[in-house]
Amino acid sequence: MIPGVSIREVNISKPFDVEAIRQDFPILHQKVNGYPLVYFDNAATSQKPNLVIDAISNYYKLYNSNIHRGLHYMSEKATEAYEAAREKSRAFLNASSTNEINFTKGTTEGINLVASSYGRKFLQPGDEVIISTMEHHSNIVPWQMVCDERGAKLRIIPIDDDGNLLLDEYKKLLNDRTKIVSVVYVSNALGTVNPVKDIITLAHEVGAVVMLDGAQATPHMAVDVQALDCDFLALSSHKIFGPTGMGILYGKERLLEQMNPYQGGGEMIKTVTFEKTTYNELPYKFEAGTPDISGGIAMGVAIDYINSIGYQNIAKHEHDLLVYGTEVLSQIEGLRIIGQAKEKASVISFLVDGIHPYDMGVLLDKQGIAIRTGHHCCQPLMDRFAIPGTCRASFAFYNTTAEIDKLVKGIEKVKTMLG
Ligand code: PLP
Repeated sequence: MIPGVSIREVNISKPFDVEAIRQDFPILHQKVNGYPLVYFDNAATSQKPNLVIDAISNYYKLYNSNIHRGLHYMSEKATEAYEAAREKSRAFLNASSTNEINFTKGTTEGINLVASSYGRKFLQPGDEVIISTMEHHSNIVPWQMVCDERGAKLRIIPIDDDGNLLLDEYKKLLNDRTKIVSVVYVSNALGTVNPVKDIITLAHEVGAVVMLDGAQATPHMAVDVQALDCDFLALSSHKIFGPTGMGILYGKERLLEQMNPYQGGGEMIKTVTFEKTTYNELPYKFEAGTPDISGGIAMGVAIDYINSIGYQNIAKHEHDLLVYGTEVLSQIEGLRIIGQAKEKASVISFLVDGIHPYDMGVLLDKQGIAIRTGHHCCQPLMDRFAIPGTCRASFAFYNTTAEIDKLVKGIEKVKTMLG
């Protein structure tokens, strides 16, 4: 039991009731620049329900204490709550053991950990690492760094004009030099849901391991690491309605056992002498130093919250938003949607003729509408489309079609203002 947090039945009545859900998110009920906030920047970070906010504040009010080594009441409570979050994370991803659940700062750290600990140890000169054109910088740069260091080569899966990965091209890239394939499950910039099960099966056939960037998948869909058979998967708590600075790296125990620690320090050791250090067991081997204790506990509460709504409800509502949003935005003259893949999550990237995305973003903000503009940390993807960036509206389960109507009106207004 987490002190001060009673995991009450979340305030929703089934079938899915978006207005009731919105009551759980205090931040949504404010005016921005004189207008009721429309928050469509969920792919950058999602908002937090009261339960998550309370879990953080209760930790500091009631049992703030360092974990794992303390014998006193509060330390035991904190340890219990933190480790309970690990078990919730295990169940969330359907990992087979909590030894496979490493707490990190987020997706970026998870990918860096694998590139550094697995890549450095196992990549040999001439080996190849495959990523895709639509990767976030955090799934490009760590691989570039380790490839440079180890003399390995980075190969890139191309995409078509709609933003679908070209699987046939991927097959051509695979060979016995391929050691690691690291791809994004759901693209933050296009919304494309990649066929990761096929990607994994094909990679395993040539003996490569597969890392999934799960940052944008986990807010929208259930992810089962055993069913996918991925070797590693990273996600960020702040995208799944939990706090920032926290995340999960899933890794197959067999692989994590073979890897060297990522960082050295307290927690990750068993014994230390000046001559020799022995490392702690999994998952602590990869968790040096005092972690974000309240962040871990609150991420566990965010997982409870998602479970209480149910991914089926989330997926259905978001699909409705995506279909509606695509339809009404497409009707705006001069608006072009970037990314029309066969399988998409609730992300719509667009450009409007003659209007720079930056201007669109600023002028929508003046109407209380928060979208994101720019390259979305996907510069090579923007180069692929020969554009500097896009406007991106990304929806969560607490968004409504009425808000999408406001976006449409807002865009029309910007068009009028800019002539
Ligand atoms: N990968 C994808 C697809 C993302 O969208 C993001 C963040 O936007 C990241 C990785 C990096 O996540 P974080 O900044 O939480 O580490």
